[in-house]
Amino acid sequence: MPTVTFIFGLCGSGKSWLAGQMSSEGAEVLDEGFPATVDGSLSPEKYSRLQELLRDGKDSAVVEATLFHEPLQQQALNYLRGIPKVEVKWIGFANDADAASHNSLHRKDKVNPDGPGHKAINDRWTRLAWTFPKGAETRPIYKLPCLVGPACSVCNPVRDQP
Ligand SMILES: [Zn+2]
Repeated sequence: MPTVTFIFGLCGSGKSWLAGQMSSEGAEVLDEGFPATVDGSLSPEKYSRLQELLRDGKDSAVVEATLFHEPLQQQALNYLRGIPKVEVKWIGFANDADAASHNSLHRKDKVNPDGPGHKAINDRWTRLAWTFPKGAETRPIYKLPCLVGPACSVCNPVRDQP
């Protein structure tokens, strides 16, 4: 019986890291490299791929930042209709914008270099209503260590004099 794990959370919360762990354990991962639709719906291309994987009996993990949003949770579940015997798991990272944006602003990977852009997205998403589906696992966000030290402008922003 295949399992699908939906992973959601803010930018910098650790979703892709978790998906990488699951990939190394044999799960097929659908990450965020699918174009979003204009109206903010889930990518039909991505979720038809998910349907194929599950029909083939493959354990799958779906990284989808915005699945804290209840209507999108329903959309995701609708894509599972008609596929027999799928176990559904949800892993949601805590709505902790401080930690997530700290990570976004500190990481240096080439895939997601836009820390300030991600912080802006987090500032918007953190204020929306968050729903953790029944049975969801909620994970705290691991805060990456700062390797810059006291000179770090993210950890120690320069404040205007009063
Ligand atoms: Zn720092």
